Amino acid sequence: MNKIFQHGTLELIMAGLYDGTLSFSELLENGDDGIGTTHGLDGEVTILDGHAYQTKSSGETVEITDLNTTTPFASAHKASTNNVKVNDTPLTFELLEKLVNEQKLNNTFLSIKAHGTIKNLQVRVAPKQKKPYPDFGKVAANQPVFNYENVTGTLVGDFGNDLYTGVMAGGWHIHFISDDRTVGGHVLSFDTDSVDLKIDIFDTLNLHLPTNNTDFTKHDVDFAGLHAAISQAEK
Ligand SMILES: [Zn+2]
Repeated sequence: MNKIFQHGTLELIMAGLYDGTLSFSELLENGDDGIGTTHGLDGEVTILDGHAYQTKSSGETVEITDLNTTTPFASAHKASTNNVKVNDTPLTFELLEKLVNEQKLNNTFLSIKAHGTIKNLQVRVAPKQKKPYPDFGKVAANQPVFNYENVTGTLVGDFGNDLYTGVMAGGWHIHFISDDRTVGGHVLSFDTDSVDLKIDIFDTLNLHLPTNNTDFTKHDVDFAGLHAAISQAEK
């Protein structure tokens, strides 16, 4: 089995449940690459080669060295034995979707790792929130967006069919970390002439829930508004 591990769900983030409920040390036991955020929705996390990097709403990126730091929502995976590699390929969200269609991977859990120079990169970074937490729609309306040109680094992200929207983003959810570890964030758009791309293919989603967290146990899901809220806030 090839597993992608995820702690929490995107629906919990949409609802404003931002308390960290899993430590990064536990998260990193489940994988070397991944994406997420930290306690209080403090920035965007990109996990690369066993190191977790936090990009803050100031635009600054730091390595998370205190692995007792917690996360409300994050994924991590080890390299899958089942994967597709494409070298020197141009890449955008649209090209990635085309590739997924061509390879008949739409019904599968996927993760990408793509290294190269991104010509145009737009990222957003969630700002740290204090209790009582606003829902994510309100946070997303006021979050900093950064634009970069010709930045070299790695795109790391997950894909799940729309069927799993709410558990995860539905479609691609991609973060970025630059080679010099100074630029990062949640990717809104990107285009590149040539990157080396690996798509890891997973047959198993290992979903871990914060069952000791009372905000989680008493939480009621707003099913009616969920898809619209996610597509507005995440895409
Ligand atoms: Zn993100």
